Amino acid sequence: MSVSEGSGAGRTDDPGHPGRAAAGAPSVPVLDERVTHCRACPRLVAWREQVAREGRRAYTGWDYWARPVPGFGPDDARLLVIGLAPAAHGGNRTGRMFTGDRSGDVLYAGLHQVGLTSRPDATDVHDGLRLYGVRVTAPVHCAPPANKPTPAERDTCRPWLAGELRLLRPTLRAVVVLGAFGWQATLPALAAGGWTVPRPRPVFAHGAHTTLAATDGGADLELFGCYHVSQRNTFTGRLTPAMLTDVLGRAATAAGLTTP
Ligand code: SF4
Repeated sequence: MSVSEGSGAGRTDDPGHPGRAAAGAPSVPVLDERVTHCRACPRLVAWREQVAREGRRAYTGWDYWARPVPGFGPDDARLLVIGLAPAAHGGNRTGRMFTGDRSGDVLYAGLHQVGLTSRPDATDVHDGLRLYGVRVTAPVHCAPPANKPTPAERDTCRPWLAGELRLLRPTLRAVVVLGAFGWQATLPALAAGGWTVPRPRPVFAHGAHTTLAATDGGADLELFGCYHVSQRNTFTGRLTPAMLTDVLGRAATAAGLTTP
């Protein structure tokens, strides 16, 4: 693929590309399409493609996606769930957020429990999963080595999330951030997307809840923190299914998707 193909705003391997391409995106579907062409982080581009070449025995025969994974869900979502980054053999394999890995199984089971999905699991893009009023995304769109993007990669990718928030703003009423990394990455994107983030910044905690006022007098945004649905948290019991559905349920109610 050419470095300028599908960019919407110049070379896709330029660190300034996400900012230009996201700012100019007129709709969520256009933004989603542009994300998939991004090559702004050399380390992550190399890793996502290396993982795809080497694969994993359990996924022999899979044609890995090996590109940035866009957000998943309706473009008029009232609730946004923000994770960390796609998993090497999850979203990086299937091309859809939280799809094809254990973390996704936990997340979608929780969303299904509160009535926001058509089914409780996510295996591949042809599984028929539909999200009702909720969208799932990440502050870093490429799978990072050891699930750890660098601060520079987080900052380079931020305009995609800021653009997604800006475009969702007419309908968006609540956000759930999974984990402290996502929380730190999301706060500046929320400020860029049109909400006032207090100083000092709200501190991440499981169950944290803060109301952010819109900078233009529009609707407030209800911000919730939740431990990440990683195996490290769910296998150890740090995050139980009940804890997850409690936060998702509160956020769904705050977003007007469910009644208490
Ligand atoms: S992590 Fe984000 S900014 Fe970096 S290459 Fe992937 S999509 Fe582009």
